[in-house]
Amino acid sequence: MTDQPLLEVSDLWVSYDRINAVRGVSFAVEAGEIVTLIGANGAGKSTILRALSGLLPVARGRIFLSGEDLLQLPAHLRVLRGVAHVPEGRGIFGNLTVLENLRLAAYVRRDGQVQGDLEEVFQLFPRLKERRHQWGNTLSGGEQQMLAVGRALMSRANLLLLDEPSMGLSPLLVREIFRVIRRINRQGAAILLVEQNANLALEVAHRAYILETGEIALSGAAAELRHHPQVLEAYLGGS
Ligand code: ATP
Repeated sequence: MTDQPLLEVSDLWVSYDRINAVRGVSFAVEAGEIVTLIGANGAGKSTILRALSGLLPVARGRIFLSGEDLLQLPAHLRVLRGVAHVPEGRGIFGNLTVLENLRLAAYVRRDGQVQGDLEEVFQLFPRLKERRHQWGNTLSGGEQQMLAVGRALMSRANLLLLDEPSMGLSPLLVREIFRVIRRINRQGAAILLVEQNANLALEVAHRAYILETGEIALSGAAAELRHHPQVLEAYLGGS
């Protein structure tokens, strides 16, 4: 039990009609790790996250969470196993208030720390506290992103699937969001992070996989990949 990775994905194939968007991808996330998937637009990153959370069917392959076959479980049961997906575009409930969004994210928890976590989210994001009785759909893009990350914190997931958390945010907010991502990780959640901002992703992650047209082209320790010539040229602007 103890030696297996938290998440183990083997030979994953995912298709849209006849397009093979993900082609034989294998990777793992260990408990407590931040792992990032980096790749150009259309490389298949979001498709992988959707397949993991059960939003897309898998054509072939295996997905195991702590040794349990996730492909046997529908999306809502994967949530109960501790898999939380923060999709691109944020996925908050626009017709619920900020407070309701946060409470709903903790709905399946049976521990006594929900109120404490709520206070922590409000401490991290004072703007959410000020707007706690506002509808989700009245928030700005940056505030919605904070709410999505706050929801992730409230869920106390074992495995957090984060899709482009920095998208559309000011540099200041991006820093704030990444600080919270680190904090969620320190609380014990493993994180699979999809990011366009390769620089930031490689800074925060322990390991990385580089995805090119649905296949893994490179993988390794994030600190090493930051200096890999192929990564420097293709994703870090040659810097
Ligand atoms: P991005 O950063 O642009 O979201 P990505 O790496 O997340 O890129 P995906 O969104 O997973 O890439 O897309 C992978 C491939 O699948 C692309 O060729 C894309 O055009 C295609 N694709 C994605 N969603 C659909 C869909 N709903 N129907 C058909 N093809 C799709």
